[in-house]
Amino acid sequence: MADKSRAQMRKKVRSEKDAKESTEVKNEAGSSKENGDVQTAESASAADANANGAAAKPNCEELEPMEVPPFETITGDRMDPFAFRFQFKNVEYSSGRNKTFLCYLVDRGNMADGLMRGYLEDEHAGTHAEEVFFTRCLGQNDPALKYTVTWYMSSSPCADCAVKISEVLKAASNVKLSVYAARLFEWEEEEIQSGMRCLQAAGCKLRMMKPLDFSYTWDTFVDNDDQPLNLWDDCKENYEFYQEKLADILQQ
Ligand SMILES: [Zn+2]
Repeated sequence: MADKSRAQMRKKVRSEKDAKESTEVKNEAGSSKENGDVQTAESASAADANANGAAAKPNCEELEPMEVPPFETITGDRMDPFAFRFQFKNVEYSSGRNKTFLCYLVDRGNMADGLMRGYLEDEHAGTHAEEVFFTRCLGQNDPALKYTVTWYMSSSPCADCAVKISEVLKAASNVKLSVYAARLFEWEEEEIQSGMRCLQAAGCKLRMMKPLDFSYTWDTFVDNDDQPLNLWDDCKENYEFYQEKLADILQQ
């Protein structure tokens, strides 16, 4: 359903510039996909098993976790700079951006292992990057360790992912998650807003990416050829717009 309304939005507001950018990103993604891993359906069910541990609060119970279709997810060390500039741009309407990019850092509180980092890229039609993270990157959750997880996402989680993430966090008290999102995904939808409040109730820190966070993500997760990120003109204004919306939603 989210995909459908996203598609409608895309049709409605897609500008000529965005349409061009979208085509180029599609080509980029097509070529990198050949090198990407293909997630198996087996590990998808592990997330479901993981998520069954805790009872949801009443307002979270209205949201039905989605069926898991066959899927393909791209994982990598550093993403293409063009894909970053397009996918993470914090425009008000996410025209042409029918994917989620999720950059992650995992601190296992263990100096010897250091930080685990990388990125995931999904097609919205398949299993979402958030869920893949928990099966693939945190599949070997050792209850004796404390995991401090930070995500920098191109857009905030959909309602289904928000419920799943909340359940994982409630079941695994040794996992702390902070999410920094470039944009809010369909924030006008009541179901989405409720999902964000579920995340907050489960202890997830949810924030919008500030201009500095974009630069940090560029430096840390992008194949940037040692070039600095030139922030787009309205980056700060757009951050403030989203920040205000998020604060309103979380306070309700
Ligand atoms: Zn999702």
